[in-house]
Amino acid sequence: MSTNQALFERAQRVIPGGVNSPVRAFRAVGGTPRFIARAEGAYLWDAEGQRYIDYIGSWGPMILGHGHPAVLDAVQRAAREGLSFGAPTEREIELAEAIIAHVPAIEQVRLVSSGTEAGMSAIRLARGATGRNRIIKFEGCYHGHADALLVKAGSGLATFGHPTSAGVPAEVVQHTLVLEYNHIEQLEAAFARHGQELACVMIEPIAGNMNFVRASVPFMRRVRELCTQHGALLVFDEVMTGFRVALGGAQSIYARAIAGFRPDISVFGKVIGGGMPLAAFGTSREIMKHLAPLGPVYQAGTLSGNPVATACGLATLREIAKPGFFDALSERTRSLVEGLSAAARAAGVPFSADSEGGMFGFFFLPQLPQDYGTVMTSDKERFNRFFHAMLGRGIYLAPALYEAGFVSAAHTAADIESTIAAARESLAA
Ligand SMILES: *Cc1c(COP(=O)(O)O)cnc(C)c1O
Repeated sequence: MSTNQALFERAQRVIPGGVNSPVRAFRAVGGTPRFIARAEGAYLWDAEGQRYIDYIGSWGPMILGHGHPAVLDAVQRAAREGLSFGAPTEREIELAEAIIAHVPAIEQVRLVSSGTEAGMSAIRLARGATGRNRIIKFEGCYHGHADALLVKAGSGLATFGHPTSAGVPAEVVQHTLVLEYNHIEQLEAAFARHGQELACVMIEPIAGNMNFVRASVPFMRRVRELCTQHGALLVFDEVMTGFRVALGGAQSIYARAIAGFRPDISVFGKVIGGGMPLAAFGTSREIMKHLAPLGPVYQAGTLSGNPVATACGLATLREIAKPGFFDALSERTRSLVEGLSAAARAAGVPFSADSEGGMFGFFFLPQLPQDYGTVMTSDKERFNRFFHAMLGRGIYLAPALYEAGFVSAAHTAADIESTIAAARESLAA
C-alpha cells in the first residue's frame, strides 16, 4: 500500500472522510488524496516525496507561493512576541489601514478568522443596518457555510450532488432568495416583488466556486441600480477575488467598466491572511456604526486580529502592493490559460478558459458558461481523466471541475511550460 493510501485509511478512522474540508477528499475525481508534507515556492511535496506544481495555493491564499522569505520572517518574529493576547494590537490597525488603502469603497474593517465568519457577519450587519430580513444570493456562489447562505452554494456542495446542506432548517433559509447568476430579468422580478424587504444582495463578482464565471457588466450595473433604488445593500464577497484578481479586488475591475461603481459591504479572506486564518468585512463608517461595541449588531472572536495572522497578512499585502506585481502575475496566468487552450485545440477537445490576475478557470465546453446550470453541463468524465493524467505528471489542479485555479508569483515561465507540456500529453490520452 502506498504511503498516501495508508495515511488516508488512518485518517478516515478518526476524521470524517479523512479530511477537514470536504473537497480535499477527491470524492469528485476519485482516487487517493495526496497528503502534503511540505511546500516551497510553486511546489508541493507529498508524503511519498513526489513533487507537484501547485495550482491550488491553499485555495487562494498563497499568492506569493509557499515560504516567501519576507512572510516567514514576519511570522517568526510575531510568534516570538506572543501567539495571542485577546487585547488590541498596533498590527491590527496597520492591516486595517493597508486593506482600506487599496479599497476605496471601505472606511472601516472588522477582522475575523475565516471567510465563513466574515460572510455571516456581513449579512448580519446588512440586516441590522437596514432593519430588513430578506437576502438575495445566486446559484453557484459560495459564501462560506453559515446556515442562511448554504443554499445552492456551488463547489463543495456540487461535488456531492446536494444543492443544500442537511441540518439547515427551512425556517433558517426562508429569507434567502436564490436567483440565477447573470439573469437580469429574474433579478428585476425579485426586486419588483420583494424590493422593500431586501437587506442585501450578496454576490461573488467573479464566481470562483463554480470554477470561473464573471458577472457580466450589464448584470452588475443592474444589480447596483436596483440595490440603490430599493435601499438594499450590495455585498461583494471578495474572499477569493480580493487582492487576487487585482490589488483593488474585482470591484476595481467593475469600477473601471461602470462609472461610480462601488459595493456597499466588502468581504475578504484568503490572500489577506497569506496562509494564516484571517478574514475581514468592511464598509462605510455610517454602516459600521451598527456593529458592536458601537451599535446593536453583535459580532466577536477570541482569535480575531490574531498577532501572528496579522503579521502574515501584512507581509503578504506589502509584497503584492509592489509596482508591477499584478502585471507580472496576470501575464503568467494568461500564458498558462493560452497554452492550455492551444493544447486543447491541437487535441480537438472542446475547451474554454479565462483568467484575471492570478485566478483562472477552464471548462470542457466550447464557450465560457454564464451560469451554474451551464457549468454543470461541462464534461465531468473528461475533467476527471484530465485531472488524474495531470496529477500523474506532477501537476496539482483542484480536484473538482467546479473550482477555480490559482497561479502564484513563484510560478516560473518554465513551470508554466512544463504544465502545458503535461496538458498536451494528458489531453491526447
Ligand atoms: C473560500 C470562500 C469563502 C469561505 O471562506 P473560509 O475561510 O473557507 O470560511 C467565502 N466566500 C468565498 C467567495 C470563498 O471563496
